[in-house]
Amino acid sequence: MIDGVGRTIDYIRISVTDRCNLRCIYCMPEEGVPLLPHDEILRFHEIWRIAEILAKNGVRRVKLTGGEPLVRRRIAELAAGLKRIPGIDNVTITTNGVLLEEMYDELVDAGIDAITVSLDTLDRDTYCQITRRDEAERVKRGIRTAVEKGRVPLKINCVPVLGMEKQQIFEITELARTAPVHVRFIEMMPIGTGGRFEFLSEERLRAALEERLGPLTPCSDVPGNGPCRYFAAEDHVGRIGFISAVSHQFCSACNRVRLTAEGFLKTCLQYDCGVELKPLLRSGCSDEVLEQAIKRALSEKPAGHHFGDGAGQPGSDRRGMSQIGG
Ligand code: SAM
Ligand code: SF4
Repeated sequence: MIDGVGRTIDYIRISVTDRCNLRCIYCMPEEGVPLLPHDEILRFHEIWRIAEILAKNGVRRVKLTGGEPLVRRRIAELAAGLKRIPGIDNVTITTNGVLLEEMYDELVDAGIDAITVSLDTLDRDTYCQITRRDEAERVKRGIRTAVEKGRVPLKINCVPVLGMEKQQIFEITELARTAPVHVRFIEMMPIGTGGRFEFLSEERLRAALEERLGPLTPCSDVPGNGPCRYFAAEDHVGRIGFISAVSHQFCSACNRVRLTAEGFLKTCLQYDCGVELKPLLRSGCSDEVLEQAIKRALSEKPAGHHFGDGAGQPGSDRRGMSQIGG
């Protein structure tokens, strides 16, 4: 699919639930966000139908996200169904890792091609402070399982928010030293509660990392879905990556759309633009009508975000990151 400014769209991020077993300070308020009633959340057959229409129009890769995707019941079955859709050749998942240890084999058996685990710190107290839950040890066990079994590629996502030392950022990069684990740092975006925190730019973080690890050399040998820029560090098997939406805007190469858990096809991370697909799906409309609605929304996909101007820009989506899926 080609959008209104000529970009090829071949990737969809599907949020499978707005529920989460953590409460990360940059993502949600402490009390959580108002949850969707269960019957407002898309059912598997509705997600598969949208994915089939998108696949017929050139979408090849799917990311399952949330909320926390592993709290959605029978998530492996959803993934297996997506993998069976002709044209979809890559289904990956981003998880907070709390349930990964027990679910790793089930996910890989279902055909999940790669796993990303969000881990902001190795330190238990700091982890509690960031996620408001005492789950660091379970997440570390999940990561250990994924490294030891090694059946699919593993990436770690880390959002710097409370300081490099406090979050043990340098220790987190150690994960990439001996195993082919790619550690990626995500710049805080002014979405959800993210706008409340001090922003640490890629530039500052990279300079600090280079002081510790030596020169970081750009490389392009990590398969993925988009905007992460990877670097090789001496004596590291895995790569160090940066996803820097604020300091290195990558909208001109945007290849994606997003589907929220309640069926809104969202065409830009920042803005509230797109199309509500659930009313169409549940009105019994034909695939042609759905396809036309999707194409119309894509023709109006914004050319770019304006995160650099801070939170609360006119037209910005009021959904939090847990509702959008990252
Ligand atoms: N619960 C899963 C997880 O945490 O990996 C999947 C959903 S979460 C919304 C997806 C990614 O968005 C996570 O890596 C998280 O750290 C990141 N994220 C959440 N809020 C953010 C913000 N304000 N700025 C940048 N990244 C954010
Ligand atoms: Fe949950 Fe992921 Fe948001 Fe943390 S970042 S609260 S794990 S959805």
